[in-house]
Amino acid sequence: MLPLIYHSQYSALTLPDKHRYPINKYRLLFEAIFHSELSNKVSIHQPNRADITKIKAIHDSEYVDDLLFNRLPAAKMRRIGFPWSDELINRTLLSTGGTQLTVDLALEHGIAIHLSGGYHHAHHDFGSGFCLFNDLAIAAKHALSFSHIDKVMIIDCDVHHGDGTATLFADDPNIITFSVHCDKNFPARKPDSDVDLALERNTSTDDYLTALKGVLPLLLAQHRPDLVIYDAGVDIHQHDELGYFDISKQGLYQRDHYILAQSKAQNIPVAAVIGGGYRTNHQDLVELHLQLIYAALLVHNK
Ligand SMILES: [Zn+2]
Repeated sequence: MLPLIYHSQYSALTLPDKHRYPINKYRLLFEAIFHSELSNKVSIHQPNRADITKIKAIHDSEYVDDLLFNRLPAAKMRRIGFPWSDELINRTLLSTGGTQLTVDLALEHGIAIHLSGGYHHAHHDFGSGFCLFNDLAIAAKHALSFSHIDKVMIIDCDVHHGDGTATLFADDPNIITFSVHCDKNFPARKPDSDVDLALERNTSTDDYLTALKGVLPLLLAQHRPDLVIYDAGVDIHQHDELGYFDISKQGLYQRDHYILAQSKAQNIPVAAVIGGGYRTNHQDLVELHLQLIYAALLVHNK
């Protein structure tokens, strides 16, 4: 069985009309899995809210408290892009806990997939771009608390640069950050990851895969991580409303399959999150995010 991590509160957030954030995609994705033959091949795990001390191991304590208790200045909330609400805090804490649980289950089963996560624009003392707490960073730090985990690699294939993660671990030799992203897209300022693969707008499926295959095997061989945390954002898709690449659905599958197979070949467990993906019709995202599930089932013979 392929472990999937999900909580019904992920989509429980009321947003203003025409808000960009595809809040319903989590529920729609879960329902698509639950009501198909995939349901026989997966196990569903429900996370708890993240431990505040784990969040404060990554984020500034005052920032965390200001966010939790609705004391953050309006300008800082605007940079995040959500109006504050109890629901927002609840889903954020659950989603942060979810990526941590994904790490735990990946270490146990070799692979686990979080049907949320990828909030890579959250920095030490501020959030941005729909990201409050950096679940990838919190989970990576959590992973290092296991005695047999000395090095974690975060492979961030969301179309947007993983700026928060890059900055948080700029001086941490045990957490390697690798971002594959569009060179001219949000965020405008892209601080250095350990390795950045910046691709131009309109990059095709073939060019994307060629570029990835030119870097990843060397990186895995060089760093030999004990765990990969993989952000499988689908906003690299050709019809994404916030991405500028020209990558097909089949290309998404090939990317996910390649990264999971490379990791499996080297016995590196993978904790994957679904990451970004933006369409006015949230249902259009379901089939795209399912590619990660299909790839994981094949690579892990589930
Ligand atoms: Zn993105």
